[in-house]
Amino acid sequence: MINTIIWDWNGTLLDDLELSLSATNSLLRDRGLPTLSVERYKNIFKFPVIDYYTEAGFDFNAEPFETPAKQYMDLYHAGEHETKLFPDVVKTLSSLKEKGYRQIVLSAMEDSNLKNMIKNAGISHYFDGIFGIKDDFAREKISLGKQITKDLELNSEECVMIGDTLHDAEVADACGFNCVLYTQGHVSKKRLETKGVRTIDRLEELLSF
Ligand SMILES: [Mg+2]
Repeated sequence: MINTIIWDWNGTLLDDLELSLSATNSLLRDRGLPTLSVERYKNIFKFPVIDYYTEAGFDFNAEPFETPAKQYMDLYHAGEHETKLFPDVVKTLSSLKEKGYRQIVLSAMEDSNLKNMIKNAGISHYFDGIFGIKDDFAREKISLGKQITKDLELNSEECVMIGDTLHDAEVADACGFNCVLYTQGHVSKKRLETKGVRTIDRLEELLSF
């Protein structure tokens, strides 16, 4: 029986693909590198994001990763007020809360940014915990997943991780959570399907499980 839902934020609850892509493309243009199409982005996006940056064409012999990572966050913050939740987020979160599920956010975004964004989106009250990482470098969130499992005394078999990247499936695997992958985020459905877990095209599909 599932009693706890562990949500990813970017690309799962928050529809920020356009902003992420335009910020990345702006950095690529500044360096005279070819920009990414949506399709190419969804085919190469991964964690740690430094590996995705490398695949996108950044040269970390020429500059440290921290430089574009910082510039990316500046562009992201400048545009984040334009991002929206996916259309069925509020309906899904409120129905799951009514049914008595505990809901948590586990993100590779920096913790205070994450909490602010969720607060500004007006959905903080649906969650029993919101957990982000310590810096802006989006390396991984497996260690944070293990930490909250311990701190909140989660019974991992009763948890399901919902995310939009291969890393969400890796987190679920490492922590022993069940996993469902959402196909409208930052990674192509075709890549998500390689993980062999259930995929959904709409979040409200969760309500009929
Ligand atoms: Mg995500």
